[in-house]
Amino acid sequence: MIDLHTHTFFSDGDLLPSELVCRAKNAGYKTIALTDHCDFSNMDFVMRQVTRITAGLCRYYKINVIVGCEITYIPPPLISKAVQRARKLGAKIVVVHGESPVEPVPKGTNRAAILSKCDILAHPGYISEKEVRLAKKNNVLLEITTRNGHRIGNRHVAKLAKKIGAKLVMDTDTHLAEDLLNEKKIKNVLKEAKLTYSDFKQMQINANQLILNS
Ligand SMILES: [Zn+2]
Ligand SMILES: [Zn+2]
Repeated sequence: MIDLHTHTFFSDGDLLPSELVCRAKNAGYKTIALTDHCDFSNMDFVMRQVTRITAGLCRYYKINVIVGCEITYIPPPLISKAVQRARKLGAKIVVVHGESPVEPVPKGTNRAAILSKCDILAHPGYISEKEVRLAKKNNVLLEITTRNGHRIGNRHVAKLAKKIGAKLVMDTDTHLAEDLLNEKKIKNVLKEAKLTYSDFKQMQINANQLILNS
């Protein structure tokens, strides 16, 4: 399994990166991206700290650990600059915290994220058809999330992505150990979003392609 959106206690997750990675390995993960919430205040620090341990974790836990970040609550006109900065600091997967129905993210975040050509637009909520077309054009993956609250928007995102042919990815947005992916969770979320198991497989392929290109 591949999961490209998780949090450690370098932002608001509960676990040390080492514990999260170890638990992911035990849960059957092949790849995990550590994508803590970042703005310009903590990005340098988080990238540096996470990068220090990834090689050792990959080697000894035998799992692919990717350094990433989730650009969060940055004003839309500054999102592109933040994405570029994150890449410069070594982020291989840059997620942007999208306009979830359950959080007051500034309007225009989804569009700015897609224009910035981030890798994944997380929980984009009631994203417009125009923005989904733009995501397809800019090769930005739209997220189907297993996280409570954010997942209210999944069905809408899935429906538009299918209609337009934009690519999807399933992530957990893990903050606690029990948030990691398992078969039961996958099935529930697929059902809720009116997606099938072959859609899940395609989402894993999309995630894998993203890793290969990053
Ligand atoms: Zn988020
Ligand atoms: Zn997140």
